[in-house]
Amino acid sequence: SIMYKKEDKGKNIQVVVRCRPFNQMERKASSHSVLEFDPQRKEVSVRTGGINDKLGKKNYTFDMVFGPTAKQIEVYRSVVCPILDEVIMGYNCTIFAYGQTGTGKTFTMEGERSTDEEFTWEQDPLAGIIPRTLHQIFEKLSENGTEFSVKVSLLEIYNEELFDLLSPSPDVSERLQMFDDPRNKRGVIIKGLEEVTVHNKDEVYHILERGAAKRTTASTLMNAYSSRSHSVFSITIHMKETTIDGEELVKIGKLNLVDLAGSENIGRSGAVDKRAREAGNINQSLLTLGRVITALVERAPHIPYRESKLTRILQDSLGGRTKTSIIATVSPASINLEETVSTLDYANRAK
Ligand code: ADP
Ligand code: MG
Repeated sequence: SIMYKKEDKGKNIQVVVRCRPFNQMERKASSHSVLEFDPQRKEVSVRTGGINDKLGKKNYTFDMVFGPTAKQIEVYRSVVCPILDEVIMGYNCTIFAYGQTGTGKTFTMEGERSTDEEFTWEQDPLAGIIPRTLHQIFEKLSENGTEFSVKVSLLEIYNEELFDLLSPSPDVSERLQMFDDPRNKRGVIIKGLEEVTVHNKDEVYHILERGAAKRTTASTLMNAYSSRSHSVFSITIHMKETTIDGEELVKIGKLNLVDLAGSENIGRSGAVDKRAREAGNINQSLLTLGRVITALVERAPHIPYRESKLTRILQDSLGGRTKTSIIATVSPASINLEETVSTLDYANRAK
């Protein structure tokens, strides 16, 4: 199966686009749609010119495209399920949500809860990737009788500093320190990072709520926290297996679900404009992630993992035999055209 992995190398990074529906503000501004989707052909076309300008069109092809009517379950089934299979085989994988603030990164990753109807969370159509994935892990592994344990952590990076959202300490401003792992060339140790054992699928929402409460406090302390921070939710699964010879071995799989800082935090095509640089507003992690992905796609000899906190943390789950999915989120509205083109260009470079 390792041979197969090697041959499969080309598909290790998958890029999909998801567009949210119009929001109230866009409707009020009578903003028109600039996007058209062809899910069959996996194409998105952007009308870059005026409303009557038929020539100003830019076409992109991705691994999948989801228009504004796509449901959470569709995204889960087509993007996450195949990745989760890899994780259960013992690989490390990462799913990123990348896009302008307000385009649905958190909606995609965490999801929301329906208020008007009484759904249990696992039936809630608004549930996002995190709760769905944890639910599926318990379903799949209990079904086939594997002995397993599941641990999660929730780490956030703001201004290249690390914050533990699941830490029992009430002080949210506590920063974590990170070191190279002397035993693992591609790994880091995050000192004191809280890893919570999840005993059953119902504990997930409680854990997410704990994280959310800390995030709210962090937002009051740090400027534009929610749009400038990266959120890394990691799920580690230990699975006990018995080989045909009766030998016991432990397989470890890891899935990182990353809700990135708003893409407006880096300038067009990854360039940092002078003003942003002077104001100290460079999002080093977002910038470096783009460079790491480009280097991986181009099979460059040097991958600049070490240049940011985010890429150092994810180094053992990016490149090599890992699978990565990038979900680029966009708004359909003309008022966001510039950011949408910038997001699609970034996503296009990662293919
Ligand atoms: P981000 O995390 O990228 O800043 P959010 O996930 O907070 O964006 O989404 C912004 C708003 O848009 C939220 O009110 C959310 O409910 C809504 N939204 C985002 N994506 C969708 C979608 N696919 N379907 C319906 N509503 C969505
Ligand atoms: Mg968000």
